[in-house]
Amino acid sequence: MGFCNSCGKPMSRGDELGTNEDGSKNEYYCIDCFQNGEFTEPDLTLQDMIVKKAKEMLDKNPDLREEDATGLLMYFLPNLKRWNPKFDEEVNHYQSNKRGYRQMD
Ligand SMILES: [Zn+2]
Repeated sequence: MGFCNSCGKPMSRGDELGTNEDGSKNEYYCIDCFQNGEFTEPDLTLQDMIVKKAKEMLDKNPDLREEDATGLLMYFLPNLKRWNPKFDEEVNHYQSNKRGYRQMD
């Protein structure tokens, strides 16, 4: 199904999806990050998220080096919808490119 566009957590089951104000599922964000149409931690910054997720990764993988965990997150998280102000623009651009290729077939 994809992954959360706030924390990057993989979401495979419907009950891992966040919820909109009207109770429907939000396919962009997980239930930990997004409930009832709002971020659970609206003041969290990208930097906070990187620190938080790096700590989780290090807890799970004691052999991982902190700079490797942080480096991976700094590469991955800024592209997610919550943190990337150009996300919708880039998705539209990508989709229009895809249409372009299909037309060439
Ligand atoms: Zn999340």
